[in-house]
Amino acid sequence: MKEENCIFCKIANGEIPSAALYEDDEFRVILDVNPATKGHALILPKNHFKNLYEIDDQTASKVLPLAKKMAANITEKLQCDGFNIIQNNNELAGQTVFHFHVHLIPRYHNDNQNFVMMQNKMTPKQLDAVRDEIVGETVSQ
Ligand code: AMP
Ligand code: ZN
Repeated sequence: MKEENCIFCKIANGEIPSAALYEDDEFRVILDVNPATKGHALILPKNHFKNLYEIDDQTASKVLPLAKKMAANITEKLQCDGFNIIQNNNELAGQTVFHFHVHLIPRYHNDNQNFVMMQNKMTPKQLDAVRDEIVGETVSQ
């Protein structure tokens, strides 16, 4: 399940060299070529899935344990002070390479990064309306 012109298929399967941190039968973890911080890495499945909507459950179930293992390893080696895990889906959400990947981003004091969400205030009634859209109408508590 590789895709012809996908750069991450080629990197994950070793056809294009990369700064690899880890490899097994299903994944390669590489350093991002344009790191947000020192040690910024990407988890790449070797099979091609466009994004979270398309990744199969078997592969998906291995992603978080691998992220956990890599985060612990990077934290120990680089002595970072925190960690962000980011995973973008579709262009609107910032995805630029359309092969599923997870960003592992070590954070350091004074690293000048700022992954801040612009958040909105909502009333309980508004939250209920959104919940109803997602899960259907439920008896209110
Ligand atoms: P996203 O915007 O979530 O799709 O992330 C794509 C990431 O891939 C970006 O952070 C890029 O810097 C990174 N990237 C693109 N091409 C390469 C490459 N050849 N080797 C390593 N990282 C890459
Ligand atoms: Zn691919």
